[in-house]
Amino acid sequence: DELRGEASLDKRPRQVPGYHYSRVEPTPVADPQLLAWSEELAAFLGLTRPPERGPAVEVLAGNRLAPSMKPFAARYGGHQFGNWAGQLGDGRAMSLGELTATDGTTWEVQLKGAGPTPYSRRADGRAVLRSSVREFLCSEAMHYLGVPTTRALSLVATGDMVVRDMFYNGNPRPEPGAIVARVAPTFVRFGSFQIFLATGEMDNLRALADYVIRRYYPELGEPSPEVYARWFAEICRRTAIMIAHWQSVGFVHGVMNTDNMSILGLTIDYGPYGWLEPYDPDWTPNTTDFGGRRYAFGQQPKVALWNLMQLGQALLPLVAGVEVLNPALDVYISTLENTRHEMLLHKLGLTSLHQAEDQALFEALEQTLAESEVDMTLFFRHLSHTAPALLKAPENGEAQWRELLAAAAYTMAPNEEQNLLQWLHRYFLRLQQEQASPEAIQEKMLRANPKYVLRNYLAQQAIEAAEAGDLSGLNRLMEVLKKPFDEQPEHEELAAKRPDWAREKPGSATLSCSS
Ligand code: AMP
Ligand code: MG
Ligand code: MG
Repeated sequence: DELRGEASLDKRPRQVPGYHYSRVEPTPVADPQLLAWSEELAAFLGLTRPPERGPAVEVLAGNRLAPSMKPFAARYGGHQFGNWAGQLGDGRAMSLGELTATDGTTWEVQLKGAGPTPYSRRADGRAVLRSSVREFLCSEAMHYLGVPTTRALSLVATGDMVVRDMFYNGNPRPEPGAIVARVAPTFVRFGSFQIFLATGEMDNLRALADYVIRRYYPELGEPSPEVYARWFAEICRRTAIMIAHWQSVGFVHGVMNTDNMSILGLTIDYGPYGWLEPYDPDWTPNTTDFGGRRYAFGQQPKVALWNLMQLGQALLPLVAGVEVLNPALDVYISTLENTRHEMLLHKLGLTSLHQAEDQALFEALEQTLAESEVDMTLFFRHLSHTAPALLKAPENGEAQWRELLAAAAYTMAPNEEQNLLQWLHRYFLRLQQEQASPEAIQEKMLRANPKYVLRNYLAQQAIEAAEAGDLSGLNRLMEVLKKPFDEQPEHEELAAKRPDWAREKPGSATLSCSS
């Protein structure tokens, strides 16, 4: 009620000056059918799995509203690929309202793909099954990896066809449509504040800041100029922790525009994301991120900082001056450095003994991996087995290190192998200084280095099967990705190196923005 909503229910695309959000209604779809359901999240929210078709699934598809629901689409703007893009807003997402979970916390439920809103611009407000499967699978996989993220409750097929790809062999290609119900405390973004700076709506800027602080950052106290500054520092801290997690598991967001940055430091808006297979800081899954590679893996820490600076600009009218906000950017930098250092120690089974030397060891690893073609996930996972075992029987070193590299590398020139072996020897000398037992070290490494991540080609295989009506791949991935750090011998092939055929196949490696 603190925020200003436009009440007209008019779906026509337009600028919506003066408002935080617009009341909307979902546009019904032909034949909603439940394809996937996140059991654990649902239980947490006090929901039980509905039958494949019926009233509950009608709600999840936007065909039916419960009396308490007052759906809305949020107004926001953003910098896209470095340029101010003006008003964007929820063009295909709409929030139905909030649920109270079993622990008393409140969660916003949002349908993505439920039809046009005032913010749809020239697009249709719909989502295809392909991108919906990707969002559903990845947000849940990230959660189980311990990465701060929005969640996904359900995936529903609409029974309608949607045309996204206009030039598939020269012709429009209809695809099955779908809707994901996604869940987060709030979906407010950096761009939600930026729009008010751009339009000079200072009352709305302050109202949104106060609303977010009171509801989602109550520990900071009643809003005041000092509290706004501490809040910004806390956003910086949370964003740093999120980025450290991404870098630790090899996640590449792909569209880190300020409209896709959550005010809570959650991973949000799963579009053309991807997972590193060969460790390569220059890799991006986004085929529309030409040349500049703005959103490549290795750029993410810098881009998040740039995005935070844009948010800082938007919050400037609320504080005494830029000097008040600048220290928050240092919080970002130091939190990111410390968290990454801490996470790399864990990944390598080390404790903090030699800060500077360890940092040099980490940098040497990143460089050596980048210069080779080694699968990031497999390298760290094999290391978690091999290194602690060698602490007990170091005499087998050379052969075991070579075996590890053979298991993790896609290709390996002799000089690359030499460099990697050299690093492994250097690392092992360092590991031998640790006091913990090999068993304890292994335990710790296996908790830091996932065995199962959502490899790009695995998602693609599950999508192609789902499009053909076979949900077994999707279901299997959902189950396996719930325990990414566990050995699951019956699912060994889902932890395998990317097969050769998946190297350059569109969808398996790279995606365009408009999915
Ligand atoms: P993204 O970069 O995918 O997060 O989207 C950028 C903007 O485009 C947001 O305002 C989205 O709501 C909007 N958008 C993307 N796809 C569609 C669509 N199919 N229909 C309407 N709006 C869309
Ligand atoms: Mg977005
Ligand atoms: Mg490389």
